[in-house]
Amino acid sequence: MDPVRKPRVATVWLGGCSGCHMSFLDMDERLLDLAAKMDLVFSPVADVKVFPEDVDVALLEGAVCNEEHLHTVRAVRARSKKVVAFGDCAVTGNVTAIRNALGAALPVLERAYRDPVNLNPQLPLEPGIVPPLLDRVLPLHQVITVDAWLPGCPPHADLIHSVLLDLLAGRTPDLAGHLKFG
Ligand code: SF4
Repeated sequence: MDPVRKPRVATVWLGGCSGCHMSFLDMDERLLDLAAKMDLVFSPVADVKVFPEDVDVALLEGAVCNEEHLHTVRAVRARSKKVVAFGDCAVTGNVTAIRNALGAALPVLERAYRDPVNLNPQLPLEPGIVPPLLDRVLPLHQVITVDAWLPGCPPHADLIHSVLLDLLAGRTPDLAGHLKFG
């Protein structure tokens, strides 16, 4: 990393519940310390619309579920030096991938939007209602190269803090004793 500027960090919300970002905020006063060490250049907690160029560390929460996610993770990969699978959904698919048991996107849409018990059976499932779903929910490493892993559902704030400090210092995060999912 360029020593004359603070490392540029981004966090991204894909197919997840935002619990990983809540755990990020649970770093509490340590966020002030981190703010002195890095610039948060993109995040759901910051009002930035376009993922910027030249990001040093990107934390990606959630699995890859739809075409918009595919576009996003490829752009993030192209613009980031280190990409981190942030939380179990990004690492393995986790609860987001439960729908894979239905085999394809259409039965998911049918169940969610047209099940007569729940909603309007006449609702058309046309493109544009939501970003087109992938037939299978994918963990991040099945779409792009991942440089580091942050397991947990959500990862504990202490682990996020320690992995982030390692990455900001150019070290490989030491996950010994922290490979616990869920
Ligand atoms: S890993 Fe857990 S907390 Fe994080 S997005 Fe997935 S379900 Fe939510």
